[in-house]
Amino acid sequence: MARVDLAIVGVGGMGSAIAAHAAQRGLKVLGLEQSSIPNTRGSSHGATRILRLGLHEGPTYVPLVLRALELWQELGKRAGTPIFHACGGLDVGFPDSSIPVNSERSCVKFNLPHEVLDAKETARRFPATRPNDGMIAVYQPGSGFLVPELAISAHTNVALEHGAEIHGFERLIGWEPHAGKYLLRTDRGVHEAAQVVFSSGAWTGKLLEADRVPVAAERTVLGWFAPRANLRDFQPDRLPIWIVDAPQVGHFYGFPAHGVPGFKLGRLREVPAPAVDPDLRRRAPDREDEDDMRSFIREIFPDADGPVLAMETCFFENTPDRTPIIDRLPGEPGAWIVGGFSGHGFKFCSAIGEVVTDLVTGKPSAFDLTPFRLSRFL
Ligand SMILES: Cc1cc2nc3c(=O)[nH]c(=O)nc-3n(C[C@H](O)[C@H](O)[C@H](O)COP(=O)(O)OP(=O)(O)OC[C@H]3O[C@@H](n4cnc5c(N)ncnc54)[C@H](O)[C@@H]3O)c2cc1C
Repeated sequence: MARVDLAIVGVGGMGSAIAAHAAQRGLKVLGLEQSSIPNTRGSSHGATRILRLGLHEGPTYVPLVLRALELWQELGKRAGTPIFHACGGLDVGFPDSSIPVNSERSCVKFNLPHEVLDAKETARRFPATRPNDGMIAVYQPGSGFLVPELAISAHTNVALEHGAEIHGFERLIGWEPHAGKYLLRTDRGVHEAAQVVFSSGAWTGKLLEADRVPVAAERTVLGWFAPRANLRDFQPDRLPIWIVDAPQVGHFYGFPAHGVPGFKLGRLREVPAPAVDPDLRRRAPDREDEDDMRSFIREIFPDADGPVLAMETCFFENTPDRTPIIDRLPGEPGAWIVGGFSGHGFKFCSAIGEVVTDLVTGKPSAFDLTPFRLSRFL
């Protein structure tokens, strides 16, 4: 039995960052992960994750992502290899789309470098793109992408270097308060922790009961396509990360080529696909998924319309308002939930590690966490 200050259930994007920060701050930490570290079962795999600075999701997130960026850069130095790549970012849509409009608003509010480009200028500067006539793009040179598997490994290494105990292939199956602490039952034994953080991603609703903590798993698919022409235009020095709101085909996001060969993209649904049980086998990527991505490619990135090279499934971990939950569980002074990042959380992991360490050590957070309270659903 381990006896620790802080147990972390789920050592993925968030859990590894919390383990690193808490262990660095001197806490005795136990990380429990049901799978490998890193793994391809949850929400944090697939070679790249977007980090945008002037976020269209709202200005609440901007201070958090600015701190996260500093911490990602420090972590990359420590790991001896960059975790963040600043290739710039494009938020594209018609002038009535909340994506360019709100990202410009966030840029203006926080004085972040940006330019608003028309469709022609966007295609001229970034020749892989063919925005529809009338679309605009907010270009932010400071945005870019993270390498998630590297980030999780680097955070886990920091935690281990600072004495954390991290257990892969150990699944939490039950927990209960016990004499002012918590007993955690796993498929390998029992542990005791003064406090516990549930950073269990797409499993959070199932683990903590979805009516108390509404986090639902949504199957989503990533695809990598071989450009059929102008391969060079898909490299990070010529193509930023991008989000495009194209009313005729939907809302997609993607990346320049990095890590896995090909041009990578994925869909973000306005209304999430029906929730799935994260423990059941996911439907493998199929022609329907490929055709869906191809319909968008033909519209906006026609040179990328070559053979599909790879497809992978992943889970979004959605709350009803697509806003995360960072809070105590009701009635449990030492049990915390850090989840429901709803398909846009990876960029924040490093800062969340610091925020959660502040919370569990009783230090006031430097950020306004009011929007992330669980009580908004109760
Ligand atoms: C396809 C896709 C694209 C995305 N793109 C972006 C992007 O471009 N930019 C961005 O910022 N965000 C993006 N996101 C969202 C982001 O990746 C997630 O918000 C983030 O990875 C969530 O991290 P997490 O730690 O909550 O979940 P995870 O990293 O999945 O970690 C949760 C861990 O908990 C473990 N676990 C669960 N239950 C138990 C248990 N009972 N016992 C032990 N362990 C348990 C799981 O095995 C898992 O490893 C994307 C997500 C997906 C799926």
